[in-house]
Amino acid sequence: MRKKVIFGNWKMNHTRNEALNFVLEMNEEIKNAKNHGILIGIAPTYMSLDIVAKKKTKSLLLAAQNVNEHESGAYTGEVSIAMLKEIKNLTHVIIGHSERRQYYNETSVKCNEKMMAMEKANLIPIYCVGETLQQFENDETKEIIKEQIHQGLLNLSSDFVTKMIIAYEPVWSIGTGKNASKEIAQDVCHFIRNEIAKLYGQKVANKVIIQYGGSVKPNNVKEYLTQPDIDGALVGGASLKASSFIELISNLY
Ligand code: PEP
Repeated sequence: MRKKVIFGNWKMNHTRNEALNFVLEMNEEIKNAKNHGILIGIAPTYMSLDIVAKKKTKSLLLAAQNVNEHESGAYTGEVSIAMLKEIKNLTHVIIGHSERRQYYNETSVKCNEKMMAMEKANLIPIYCVGETLQQFENDETKEIIKEQIHQGLLNLSSDFVTKMIIAYEPVWSIGTGKNASKEIAQDVCHFIRNEIAKLYGQKVANKVIIQYGGSVKPNNVKEYLTQPDIDGALVGGASLKASSFIELISNLY
């Protein structure tokens, strides 16, 4: 059976001190969640990764929000895989979040380069896919998702894909309060699993964790996580305050 996995994506929020206080406030609930079979992770900014790594409970998973695909060199403002590997217990990296696709022109080809580099370093991607509002209204969702999955997951090993998390995040639902219905989310997550099966076989596809993301809140998280192909959530706004993240998590028990 697949595990349930919730990740909070802090984006460009929280200073180091705020991040530290958040973690201290959350630690007990994270352990509680693990006892209920639910894994919780957060993706702070690069600036706070080390302090969170030092103060978090072992049960809290730690992700970076991005990484550069090159080993090192003249890439001002970027962070390499080797730098992330020095952060104790950092296991995951968000790849291809729609804000990176939208504001920093990241394509699925670029995401694939990052994930190929991550495979060598044994870092697990949380690979985000999703359509824009216009694509949704033009009924192009599956075509877009198909391209993002096929291009993004090119030339990876089955073992690596098995460990990956895919986050289906319709762009029109991120930070807007307009979440996709549980039926739409389930349908697209099921579609994603089928596309992975075409590339890597059903056995691999059955193991991949697929999350829904987009205005997930304490009052709607359960309806997503009870869908057969939705194994977790990627949470933005509702992960920013420890109180609301705790409420969201505890509403799953
Ligand atoms: C996100 O940024 O990945 C996200 C899903 O944000 P929100 O929960 O605020 O819609």
